[in-house]
Amino acid sequence: LACIDTYKLQRLRHNLVEEVASKGITDLLVLDALRQVLRHCFVESAFAEKSYEDIALPIDEGQTISQPYTVAYQTQALGIRPGHKVLEIGTGSGYQCAVLCAMGAQVYTVERHALLKRKAHEILTEMGFRAQFRVGDGTLGWPTYAPYDAILVTAGGPKVPDALLQQLAVGGRLIMPVGSMKEQYMTRVTRTAPDHYQAEKLHVFKFVPLIGEEGWPNPAGK
Ligand code: SAM
Repeated sequence: LACIDTYKLQRLRHNLVEEVASKGITDLLVLDALRQVLRHCFVESAFAEKSYEDIALPIDEGQTISQPYTVAYQTQALGIRPGHKVLEIGTGSGYQCAVLCAMGAQVYTVERHALLKRKAHEILTEMGFRAQFRVGDGTLGWPTYAPYDAILVTAGGPKVPDALLQQLAVGGRLIMPVGSMKEQYMTRVTRTAPDHYQAEKLHVFKFVPLIGEEGWPNPAGK
């Protein structure tokens, strides 16, 4: 394994989990997954120790690996249980995907940048996690494997894409930051019946933009 764990990093990781728990994360499956997944393997090696601070960090393509608290918050809000089929939009580093895999979910993840998908796929494989990866516009979802028990969007958009609402199972939940480019309300949508959805506005967060057909327009073809 190219990425190794050390006692020091292990101690830092356990402290991070305590910190995330103290901020209001109570789901033991989520906390166990954070304890299990080596976050330092998803960032450049210079950031290894920093990766166990409760902060977002830069990855390739000008993107970020979300703050651990945010990963835990979104995961807890979905009520993920082993066996759930989960669609993630915005693979990024692959860390959130690994957390979902560690919880026993069956994960389908979509990323618009091919480089990020390739790196994430590699590291998850190295760690022994299996997920389905795809490069494309996640605002259109991944219809082939729909419906999903849970949909997790890790970038902020102006509205919840219709395609994602359609691909949610009845009884399923979607979580996504919705608002302006500057800040978003974490929004949870539950599909209570085939043609009925219930939306809740939760806390304010700040995410990188969701870029695509049902998201923000692509800046200068990037
Ligand atoms: N879940 C990631 C992690 O654990 O590292 C966090 C990723 S970052 C906050 C959001 C990601 O969403 C970026 O990698 C970005 O390229 C991606 N993204 C933005 N718009 C997208 C779209 N329409 N489809 C797929 N991915 C998109």
